[in-house]
Amino acid sequence: MDWQACSRARLSRDPRFDGKFFIGVLGSRVYCRSICPAPTAKEKNVRYFPTAAAAAEAGFRPCLRCRPECSPGTPAWMGTSNTVARALRLIGKTGLDDRGMEGLAERLGVGTRHLRRLFLRHLGASPIAVAHTRRLHFAKKLIDETRLPLGQIALASGFGCVRRFNAAIRKTYKRTPTQIRRLARQAPAPFDNQYVFQLRFRPPYQWPTMLAFLKARAIPGVEAVESGSYFRSIFVEGIAGHLEVSFEEELNSLRLRIQFSEPRSLFFIVERVRAMFDLNADWGDIAITFKSDSELSGRVERAPGLRVPGCWNGFELATRAILGQQITVRAATTLAGRIAQKFGKVFPGSGTVTRLFPAPETLAEADLSSIGLTRARSHSIRALARAVCDGRLRFEGIVELQAFLQQFMELPGIGPWTAQYVAMRALGEPDAFPLGDAALLSALRLTNAAELERRAEAWRPWRAYAAMYLWNVPGSEIQESKTQFSGIRSTAASAPAFVAG
Ligand SMILES: [Zn+2]
Repeated sequence: MDWQACSRARLSRDPRFDGKFFIGVLGSRVYCRSICPAPTAKEKNVRYFPTAAAAAEAGFRPCLRCRPECSPGTPAWMGTSNTVARALRLIGKTGLDDRGMEGLAERLGVGTRHLRRLFLRHLGASPIAVAHTRRLHFAKKLIDETRLPLGQIALASGFGCVRRFNAAIRKTYKRTPTQIRRLARQAPAPFDNQYVFQLRFRPPYQWPTMLAFLKARAIPGVEAVESGSYFRSIFVEGIAGHLEVSFEEELNSLRLRIQFSEPRSLFFIVERVRAMFDLNADWGDIAITFKSDSELSGRVERAPGLRVPGCWNGFELATRAILGQQITVRAATTLAGRIAQKFGKVFPGSGTVTRLFPAPETLAEADLSSIGLTRARSHSIRALARAVCDGRLRFEGIVELQAFLQQFMELPGIGPWTAQYVAMRALGEPDAFPLGDAALLSALRLTNAAELERRAEAWRPWRAYAAMYLWNVPGSEIQESKTQFSGIRSTAASAPAFVAG
């Protein structure tokens, strides 16, 4: 970590550094976010930590004013360690299960000592400490932001039983859960089974572009973009629900409203939405990489904070990507809507969101030609569905990029474009890049995939972000007239437009 940068960020309370490091104050033994409103301590009395877990392991308690549990997630691993990234995703999905670190290492296919070393290097804390801190932070968020009974919070945050939960909270906060709840200023209770969370990000965040991208691809009945918010149906552990995401710029956060009857799935849902809206991205690093690039610098200046949209469900996204091969985004959206209408379960949602996207089990046997799909596309989607059912293809948790690309491309009709596009959005792989993309070739005035790949070398490890810029943000005015920009835009809007195989 760069001490001087940390010090400057701390003294200016700069929100762009929120969650990138934490400050331990020696006198009070409390650790804070860079934006903490409390009076700043003298430099000699503070220590800097790359993660909250590292501060906790060094014996510091979370500050009750700036609430470290509310900071954006750590970007420490992004574009660096694949193993740490996958481990964090796995912890995000399941917490750390009973098998602890051995189980985690085994599922990642590495030794426990190696995993521990990687965690210490990138996050400054062991996997167990990282998982424990995340459970604790989520419990604190539930105490502060919901009216969920404390017994339910113990289960929802992965403590297993109330006794362990009480002990952990008391040890960390020197207060009981009941005392903490009394301190929290609670909003009036919303409807039953409804929860509202603030999900912080490091500014800037390019919300309009994100929303426009999602709107063009929203599957009718399953997703909707209305009045500046994103809506969708969800299905977790056999239970249906829905959610809404909106933008609160002044708070540097997204507002997530969840309607769901099983609190134990809240952790998973929140983590999923954070990934979907790419809230852990470290914009500063990405901007530095693109600053000196002639094609990207202008675009970055015009639309700072563009993120790579993730997805709610990898299977749904992959299906959508196959549908989009060689046709316009609009035509693919229509087809996706027909699939949802014909094969998706109806559920009593809200407004225009009334369907669940069909499960792989359903599409594996579905007659897709009946809704106007070509034989080749029907074949691809059924093969995809079967591979997901068999467990040959996974999108979550412990996916190794190269293995994923290889397995995915073994399916009929899947070329590198589709595989990379899905890696970019379903795996959250920041360096995935839609090889040979027609709109990217056109935006860069290149003629073939090999040239594009060479050109993209300069954007590593953030090639996915470069693709988003080239697709969604116009080049300069002069360039626009030279290259007949309107033509590019229509191609860009219709990406995915290229597929090999
Ligand atoms: Zn603080």
